[in-house]
Amino acid sequence: MSNYIIAIIGRPNVGKSTLFNRILGVRAAIVHDEPGVTRDRHYAEAEWAGKTFTLVDTGGFLPNSEDEMEAAIREQAKVAIVEADEIIFLVDAENGVTSADEELAAIIRKSQKPIVLVVNKIDSEKRESSVGEFFQLGLGEPIPISALGGRRIGDFLDIITEKISSNANENADE
Ligand code: GDP
Ligand code: MG
Repeated sequence: MSNYIIAIIGRPNVGKSTLFNRILGVRAAIVHDEPGVTRDRHYAEAEWAGKTFTLVDTGGFLPNSEDEMEAAIREQAKVAIVEADEIIFLVDAENGVTSADEELAAIIRKSQKPIVLVVNKIDSEKRESSVGEFFQLGLGEPIPISALGGRRIGDFLDIITEKISSNANENADE
């Protein structure tokens, strides 16, 4: 297993599993439309431009109520902060900035981990205009992608693997 762990976090339905599968190139992997089908986390080995990393899909949860949603979001963020070397914070251009996004952002902002803010569902040029509002999350420049269509995925992978040295595995102390 690669020593460098990148976790994808975000509220339900932003496209975490779609992005996970896109990065892995596994089109057949299961993606659910309903939030909370899985509670577990999915780990996979990924590689980009000679750099290897372990990718974590923090999975779904079952937010039946505001309270449960809040608890699930905290749990997800906590896990990512503890085990990840880098966090992909995924948000969704279709819904704009939601209170769940703000809550999650507030939690991970306190961590010392590098965070890449990624805006999914930018399926076309004309959707680029909805990216700007995500600056208000205070996590730096939002990176636009379409996990489903593959738009700008190469640029995105360049950014998230920037901090990985090509020989990262040689430094492994597992
Ligand atoms: P998760 O709950 O965060 O894991 O989200 P999923 O990966 O299950 O995706 C939720 C829904 O958003 C599914 O219907 C996906 O097909 C859809 N989706 C994911 N990525 C994109 C995208 O880039 N563009 C659009 N239009 N829909 C997307
Ligand atoms: Mg999912």
